[in-house]
Amino acid sequence: MDGSITTQTTVNLVLLGPPGAGKGTQARKLQDRFGLVQLSTGDLLRAAVAAGTEAGKAAKAVMERGDLVSDDIVIAILRDRLADPDCAGGVIFDGFPRTTVQAEALDALMAETGRAITAAISLEVDDAAMVTRISGRFTCAGCGEGYHDSFKTPVVDGTCDSCGGTAFKRRADDNAETVGQRLRAYHAQTAPLIDFYAATGVLTTIDAMQDIDRVETDLTAIVAKALA
Ligand code: AMP
Repeated sequence: MDGSITTQTTVNLVLLGPPGAGKGTQARKLQDRFGLVQLSTGDLLRAAVAAGTEAGKAAKAVMERGDLVSDDIVIAILRDRLADPDCAGGVIFDGFPRTTVQAEALDALMAETGRAITAAISLEVDDAAMVTRISGRFTCAGCGEGYHDSFKTPVVDGTCDSCGGTAFKRRADDNAETVGQRLRAYHAQTAPLIDFYAATGVLTTIDAMQDIDRVETDLTAIVAKALA
């Protein structure tokens, strides 16, 4: 060590947490604030389903049940997106990895291009609250801004606060029955990743039952520290 102060020019973050914990909402905020790319495998899979690709056809029924799509499909989709030039400036992985196989594949993919996971942040929440959070949520079809029937409706009914759009959408799997299976899949297959990242020394946990702004403040502090 020569004693000089080094500055990370970018960060690659993994957001962990069950469905409804706020990964997508917070990833969008971090994307805007730090110029990072939000990489959501759920969004990539929904796009594949909508486009009717082979991967999309294989994933559709699995997603509707609330189970995890096979590692092979998800890793292939992720690998393609991660190779895009915009990802070189730093990525927020939202909903990926979800299994140990995916976490190991991610480390290998990142290493191929001299990158690594800088921080894994676990958003801690009570399962019971997730069903309510998920069941009422919807997004602007234009810009993706998130809303909720009980907690956050547009200021002007039917008009997006963010882009002025008037079309909104709800996810097919955001219903009480599917949420139960999604939570079970999280605890069985994804929660072990908390230990996986703790073992590599990059894990931080956040109380994600706080209001959205407080969670954002906590996350921003972690990312700012990683960039310092
Ligand atoms: P999400 O938008 O992250 O809540 O994901 C919606 C659904 O897409 C999940 O319930 C899974 O069926 C599937 N999915 C998304 N990401 C993954 C992943 N990394 N591994 C397996 N399945 C995934």
